[in-house]
Amino acid sequence: MNNFFIPAPVLFALDRLHGAGYHAYVVGGCVRDFLMGRTPGDYDVTTSAKPEQTLAVFADCRVVETGLQHGTVTLVRDGMNIEITTYRVDGVYLDGRHPEQVTFTDDLAEDLCRRDFTVNAMAYSPEAGVIDYHDGLADMKNRVISCVGNAEQRFSEDGLRILRALRFSSVLDFTPDEECSAGVRTLAPLLDKISRERIYVELTKLLGGIAAPRILRGYPDIIARILPGLTEASAEQTAGRIERLRKFRETYEIPLDKKAADALHYALLFADADAKLCRRLMQSLKPSRDELSAVESVQKYGNAPETFAEKPLDYAVKLLMKAGGDDFPKRIALYRQALGTMDDRTAQEVIRTAEELREAGACVRLAELAVTGGELMPLGFAGPALGKTLNALLDRVMRGELANEREILLNAAEKERNG
Ligand code: ATP
Ligand code: MG
Repeated sequence: MNNFFIPAPVLFALDRLHGAGYHAYVVGGCVRDFLMGRTPGDYDVTTSAKPEQTLAVFADCRVVETGLQHGTVTLVRDGMNIEITTYRVDGVYLDGRHPEQVTFTDDLAEDLCRRDFTVNAMAYSPEAGVIDYHDGLADMKNRVISCVGNAEQRFSEDGLRILRALRFSSVLDFTPDEECSAGVRTLAPLLDKISRERIYVELTKLLGGIAAPRILRGYPDIIARILPGLTEASAEQTAGRIERLRKFRETYEIPLDKKAADALHYALLFADADAKLCRRLMQSLKPSRDELSAVESVQKYGNAPETFAEKPLDYAVKLLMKAGGDDFPKRIALYRQALGTMDDRTAQEVIRTAEELREAGACVRLAELAVTGGELMPLGFAGPALGKTLNALLDRVMRGELANEREILLNAAEKERNG
């Protein structure tokens, strides 16, 4: 494999380390992704150089000492962050979470042994080619997730690997091998000790993976385990919801950014929970404020019958744009469509209407109204009455009763004051 593409800044890092007499390879996810024809998200380098030596090699470059005690230095070059980590052996995991200590080593083989799955334990350099001591290539060909070494032992060292096995199966469309799958089931209680932030990262990737429906159906017990209060049935049903969401998006070619997709997946996973439980489950994962509110607002407007009931579609869509931004009606339509509470045709219509309204620059916010509070004051409006009048004008504009033009709005305000 000589035509392995490595971006210039990463090649620079490898060359520099080689030039200084150290061994250096790209390793882990980027090797796996490249061999599978996927675009690597980031490039990790593993090296025989000790952290201080790495720092010395890159003394004239921009580096961040991200995790010196774990042997990691980040090289920042041409807009890329390249994590350069010293070959290491992880010590015992007394708390099932963090290695008590890490020991640096001169041996690449030892570094590859500490890695979780065979497909994640390959290294590559242009000189040496692919280094594959654990038959990662064969497992990749068979589309199998297999632990490096004994599954039970590896899961016992770090319980997060249980969820990672499912995450990689979902994202890569692989299947855990028998030993791995058995380990996932028997050692699932270890997940209770894992930090919620780490669970959140893996679960989010799992839900977004191509094979998420298959994993949700195969391991609903694991999903319910990490989210106490969620039933296995809900986890299983989420599979069908995600399938409907995908099919609809593919059929009608509906783009969705990653953040919105993540929020939708969680909203669908928690669709059977009431607002209180949804909040508790979401908060237990330690999301950012934005991530939490994205999920909550989809649930709130997606579940409320009054969102679309008894009002023209056009007006309902505007209200959603006002509440959650231009893209919000789309998220609500996708959520409802996936749950089966809105038919495909209506969902499409909501999405198209939101697009048309955005393109037409429809007024859905006070800031977009053609009059300001300052302009109403000379007419005698002040205090709460002023706010009330502005909101009433906005509502009439949104309903299509008034054109969003200054004179028309001033006239309407005057009429209201007199009448
Ligand atoms: P992604 O493309 O999603 O980032 P990745 O394989 O790069 O996938 P990371 O979580 O970024 O996954 O980890 C980088 C590498 O570090 C892995 O490929 C694996 O070799 C190793 N690794 C990460 N977490 C663990 C862990 N908990 N136990 C053992 N090895 C791990
Ligand atoms: Mg990575």
